[in-house]
Amino acid sequence: MARIRLDHIRHAYTPELAKAGTYALREVDHAFEDGGAYALLGPSGCGKTTLLNIISGLLTPSEGHVRFDEKDVTRLTPEARNIAQVFQFPVVYDTMTVAENLAFPLRNRRLPAGEIRSRVSNMLARLGLEVKANRKARGLTADEKQKISLGRGLVRSEVNAILFDEPLTVIDPHMKWQLRSQLKDLHRQSRMTMVYVTHDQTEALTFADKVVVMYEGEVVQIGTPEELFDRPRHTFVGYFIGSPGMNVLPCRVENGAALVGQARVPLPAAIDGAGRAGRLELGIRPEFVTLVPRGTGLPVSVERVEDVGHERVVRARLFGEKLVSVLPEGTPVPAEADAAFDPAALNLYADSWLVERRPA
Ligand code: ADP
Ligand code: MG
Repeated sequence: MARIRLDHIRHAYTPELAKAGTYALREVDHAFEDGGAYALLGPSGCGKTTLLNIISGLLTPSEGHVRFDEKDVTRLTPEARNIAQVFQFPVVYDTMTVAENLAFPLRNRRLPAGEIRSRVSNMLARLGLEVKANRKARGLTADEKQKISLGRGLVRSEVNAILFDEPLTVIDPHMKWQLRSQLKDLHRQSRMTMVYVTHDQTEALTFADKVVVMYEGEVVQIGTPEELFDRPRHTFVGYFIGSPGMNVLPCRVENGAALVGQARVPLPAAIDGAGRAGRLELGIRPEFVTLVPRGTGLPVSVERVEDVGHERVVRARLFGEKLVSVLPEGTPVPAEADAAFDPAALNLYADSWLVERRPA
């Protein structure tokens, strides 16, 4: 196993695209620590698959280096890197049986027959495929085929890392949940470095210790689920994580307060907004916006109240800006109310990037 270092990686798919400045990866400089469980989270087209293929060696980056521990592997083939990769759609050998499919990567690596047998039967049990062990893969469902794909990656416990590219896309929702918790258990037992690509925040947050959020070819934040929730480093992370996403209100800063229209929101002393150039925005998650009696807070007009499970989602306007509040179910919402922001949950953004709080 290894620490995987992406050293100033940039990638354009053709020289023409590079000339035009169209990079699928604009600049990624990051390390995946040995033994970590990471999720790579971002919308479709942000560069997740490109990054995964650069780690595994299916793609050579236009610029930068990939290192496993201290070794430069940028020019090495996937085989030489000893990485297992599970793709979005199943890759199985139709003419082989389920068991032979699982044994295939181990035979390639010339493991002793006894070892292969025990690993394969162990994996068949984990995946619930024992009864199908001697069936040809042809004719199995997409679900079952994808389980074989996962199994083929997971039997190779000696790999440097295992990469999953949206592997549960074709799996039905119930099975998804089950397979995801199995992957998590497997990580706990094996402490293999795992990188799991998804565009689904729930999937990312439940699988990973650390979530790497990508946006338009860049890593915008790496953090624990709590860090992404409390202090989104970029407004995109605020929108993308959480449901509904963070409120982002255009503002000015004067005398230690953010002005949203004519509403004055005092900023905590740790947020230094004075003299910031660029486009300023105030971020606050809906969970930290409460309603208070008219005349005691920020003047809002309530437009809509939705009851969603155990929450009431209040959609309002503050000087024309959309403002969402999430309240516990049953909380009364008067027609005339003001809003209040929890100061501890305020974030200030300059040109979409967080103005870091001064340490206490
Ligand atoms: P994701 O996996 O996050 O959906 P990708 O890594 O597949 O994103 O794609 C990132 C960007 O690179 C997209 O703009 C996509 O259109 C482009 N791209 C992906 N593969 C190719 C390719 N083979 N040739 C040219 N452009 C590509
Ligand atoms: Mg992809």
